[in-house]
Amino acid sequence: QTSPADPFGFLGLTYDDVLLQPGYSDLAPSDIDTTSRLTREISLKIPLLSAAMDTVTESAMAIAMARQGGLGVLHRNLSIEDQAYQVDLVKRTQTGIITNPVTIGPDATLEDLDTLAGQFRISGFPVVDLENRLIGMVTNRDLRFTPVAEWATTKVDEVMTPQPLITGPSTISRDDATLLLRKHKLERLPLIDPDGRITGLITVKDFVKSEQFPDSSKDSQGRLMVGAAIGYFGDAWQRATDLIEAGVDVLVADTAHGNVRMLIDMVKRLKSDPATRDVQVIGGNVATRQGAQAFVDAGADAVKVGVGPGSICTTRVVTGVGVPQITAVYEASLACKPAGVPVIADGGLKHSGEIGKAIVAGADSVMLGSLFAGCEETPGDLVLVNGKQFKTYRGMGSMGAMSSRGKKSYSKDRYFQAEVTSDDKIVPEGIEGQVAYKGPLSTVAHQLIGGLHQTMFYTGARTVPELQATGKFIRITSASLKESHPHDVQMTVESPNYSGF
Ligand code: 5GP
Repeated sequence: QTSPADPFGFLGLTYDDVLLQPGYSDLAPSDIDTTSRLTREISLKIPLLSAAMDTVTESAMAIAMARQGGLGVLHRNLSIEDQAYQVDLVKRTQTGIITNPVTIGPDATLEDLDTLAGQFRISGFPVVDLENRLIGMVTNRDLRFTPVAEWATTKVDEVMTPQPLITGPSTISRDDATLLLRKHKLERLPLIDPDGRITGLITVKDFVKSEQFPDSSKDSQGRLMVGAAIGYFGDAWQRATDLIEAGVDVLVADTAHGNVRMLIDMVKRLKSDPATRDVQVIGGNVATRQGAQAFVDAGADAVKVGVGPGSICTTRVVTGVGVPQITAVYEASLACKPAGVPVIADGGLKHSGEIGKAIVAGADSVMLGSLFAGCEETPGDLVLVNGKQFKTYRGMGSMGAMSSRGKKSYSKDRYFQAEVTSDDKIVPEGIEGQVAYKGPLSTVAHQLIGGLHQTMFYTGARTVPELQATGKFIRITSASLKESHPHDVQMTVESPNYSGF
């Protein structure tokens, strides 16, 4: 099937070419479980990823995604330092125990304290000596009683609450920590080892949050999970190792055409080098069985599929290359399934119903750009046009993302143009635009996952693997597509999950 004798190849299908057939269902809504595999070793409660794009995923979006039970992939149009810092912000925003908390020395000034608080967006710090032993706690509140004019000359040890403090052992359980926080009405509980060295910090705020987000995606230490995009060019290895050091859970080898030797070698090296082999590595993007097989053989932990389906993408018209997304996902799954490697369907989803279609075609999760770009947590400000609110959304291969206009572009190698030095020599493969503002991610994700729940109910599938195994497509015509959308009525009120585009 992958090497058709017909010179015109076989017919490729995409989301709008198919529907899922209804199936017998005896499920109660509470029976349905959307848990799915993201990589060989990571499962997510909701099979959604936010795209590694500079108008979609930075730390705020990644935090929101992980809290909902999905995963954010931090874009790479950032310096290595900035991207690693974003990873750090996610890992510190916590649902429980902050390991390796940011500390301050007793001789630091209140001005230093204020800077540190702003930089890490946190309000309380353990004060430690040179041996990392806890000698006090200082918080933003302690600043308030000193006039700002004196911050530069006042030292932390003059305002901190010194030892003895209520502390817990490094190994404290969640229940014991809750008891201590409650009993002493504490805001923060420092954790120390037998030598008095700081090993962790628990804050009431994080404890409460972790109860609010029961589905959140967490690592083995209870920290939120985060992914980050890397390339293959120049200092890509440095980027990968710095991200790992910052605590990244998943590296996404991110290019528009992943079936290239240098990127496959990069994945191979990441999965075989003792320093990096424990992190999960996703290879992408491919759109054929052979492209997926190359990543499977290189040891990738998941394969990301999509050449040209994206809403802001012009690859197919600029280059004439691409595979319609349902067929691309199916073809990639033929290589991935026998090897137990999950598939990610990336780009081209316009409505929640397409999540189920991607899964039946062979995907285990989906990556979304335009459907998430209007969320409050994405980078960038709201734009008001004719009284309606919008957010900017642009392709990573657009002129704006690849040119040096504004600031340096770090992601040109996604489109194999790293060596193009002059902006007017760039050949864009994407456009710049805007999408309607949609409010917080939690409400957007609720609609998307609500849609998937209904897909599973209509098809009678209790789990994602069941949907993959039993879901059946029916091919449709353009007349049926017209019938599928609202028709013959002038829409007066948009739904939260249907805008008419
Ligand atoms: P969407 O969900 O908006 O349809 O597609 C998002 C996906 O499009 C991203 O995850 C990424 O794979 C892809 N993408 C992002 N920017 C560009 C671009 O400028 N050109 C191309 N070809 N693909 C892009």
